[in-house]
Amino acid sequence: MHILIANLGSTSFKYRLYKMDGKNGAVIASGGFERVTNHEEVINQALADLIDQGNLNSINDIDAVGFKTVLGKDLSGCVDADDTVIAALEGFREVAPAHNPPYAEGIRQFRQILPDARLVALFETAFYQWVPQAASRYAVPKEWHDAGIRRYGFHGASHKFVAERSAELMGREDVAESVRGLYVDGPQEVSGDPLRVVSFHLGGSSSVTGIRNGIAIGTSMGFSPQSGLPQNNRVGDLDSGALPYATKALGITMEEAERQLTKESGLQGVSGVSNDLRDICNAAEGGNDDAQLALDMLVDSARHWASSFLFELGGLDTIVFTAGIGENNPWLRTAICAGLENFGVTIDEEKNAACMASEAVISSDNSPVKIIVIPANEELVLAREVHRKIS
Ligand code: ADP
Repeated sequence: MHILIANLGSTSFKYRLYKMDGKNGAVIASGGFERVTNHEEVINQALADLIDQGNLNSINDIDAVGFKTVLGKDLSGCVDADDTVIAALEGFREVAPAHNPPYAEGIRQFRQILPDARLVALFETAFYQWVPQAASRYAVPKEWHDAGIRRYGFHGASHKFVAERSAELMGREDVAESVRGLYVDGPQEVSGDPLRVVSFHLGGSSSVTGIRNGIAIGTSMGFSPQSGLPQNNRVGDLDSGALPYATKALGITMEEAERQLTKESGLQGVSGVSNDLRDICNAAEGGNDDAQLALDMLVDSARHWASSFLFELGGLDTIVFTAGIGENNPWLRTAICAGLENFGVTIDEEKNAACMASEAVISSDNSPVKIIVIPANEELVLAREVHRKIS
């Protein structure tokens, strides 16, 4: 079975072609285009390249196309990418302006170009469908809630992969199996002690999710990907009173304030150095106090969210680090886990320092809570979900 994963940006198109064998998938081709002005043209070009390179005999060999859609109005899950999905994306185009419009348009175009392929959308919010209302509702008037203003959560593909893989590594095949079928069968009953996980997805954008028996109980991101931890250049959590005050105090429009919170804030805004954590770490090592403060804020916020899940879960079995920073930055992993020995969390500094972009247990052998690094592979997650959906 051939599944094409389409990654659509407002001026970019990237793709990976997977050949699936059961839940295992191998990438047989990949490519992409930048500075795109006409998506239809580059999609056709990509398909022609796949045929020219011998990866496909014809476009009819593509069984399905998967889209990692971000946020839909009144819609989530892993669903057929039809008119309902397009309407849901358009209903929230202002909330995810960089993602929703290109996906709505891309789905339309793929429908025309590949009329016989199954098109599937996996929403980044899908993993949070079972978060209790107490953790997903904002204390806003009912009309606001009914208008869709609630905590959705993002990075769902990544945290779901962590839920499944960590259960496998913890010897809990029952939980792993429940996670695998989550979007098709819903949560399954599992017996025995609960498996309690805190998952840190730390990358260009970051989030922390609490997971019990493979089901998310809460997450740091809320209504938009603007929330939660300080992001590379986005603000993260901000008191709702600050925005109207800032427009008056700084004499700027709401649009300009939004732009600054989206483009000039977060780790970049605080450090004044870069939106890339490697540059910020180098600057901090060189004595730049603002860069050090940005790092400390990321650690503080990650610990803040993790501790709220620790209470809710009533304890912890596993801590997982994933994504660009989580996989590659031992300093940050140590800082996040510091001083938690009384909670059963002890990192092994040698294993931690040696672990770069690879799967490894980095807690000490006698640490009751296992600390694990699990490399993210969101395209594979999507290919697997599409495969499950259409099988
Ligand atoms: P995105 O969210 O855009 O997919 P990533 O998950 O790739 O981003 O994470 C990007 C972040 O990961 C950057 O801040 C970068 O500094 C950090 N990062 C990536 N590779 C490394 C590395 N080898 N060492 C330290 N940090 C890294």
